[in-house]
Amino acid sequence: MINYRTYSYEENEHLFGPGKRLLLFTQGCSLRCKGCVNQHLWEFGVGKNISTAELVKLCMDTDGVTLHGGEPLDQAEGLYGFVKTLKANGKTVVLFTGYLYKELNSIQRKIWNLSDIVVSGRYIEDKRNIYLQFRGSTNQRVYVHKGKYSNYKIKDGKTVAILRLSEDGVMQSRGFRTDEFEQLLKEIIKTNEEH
Ligand code: SF4
Repeated sequence: MINYRTYSYEENEHLFGPGKRLLLFTQGCSLRCKGCVNQHLWEFGVGKNISTAELVKLCMDTDGVTLHGGEPLDQAEGLYGFVKTLKANGKTVVLFTGYLYKELNSIQRKIWNLSDIVVSGRYIEDKRNIYLQFRGSTNQRVYVHKGKYSNYKIKDGKTVAILRLSEDGVMQSRGFRTDEFEQLLKEIIKTNEEH
């Protein structure tokens, strides 16, 4: 079982990895980096539970999964079976983790090694940089493993934010919220209130 907050299907390579991906936000993080934008994902056990089989089914029409958090590797016992089954079905795994490889136990290392791309390291507020692909601060590192994405090149130098408005009026944003983005958001909210 994996405890998660939300999942969605995403196709923004700059933020989540190549192709169409299931973006899974796991619930719970023991690392608690200062300035983390996902603090609502820190507490353990307050999300929804999903089985490996259900998750695999959700990935069948995609290139694979992007594991985000929260801290996915804090649920390594549950995630390992899922990652292994996905890879056996020819899918790819992009792992975002706050841990460094040297900090991992053996099951966490297995997940790291099976992943096609790993983004690793704590978020450090003083090193924030919004122009990096996949990373929020300059200390974080990207590892591209052998396999489907061997030739994948990291493209730094631009920033991406996505704003999504559902039919029932719920707004969701992903990526880096620049001042321009915040301004745009305010204008949209104001226009909505006027109608
Ligand atoms: S590891 Fe990720 S989710 Fe956890 S506190 Fe750090 S930035 Fe936030």
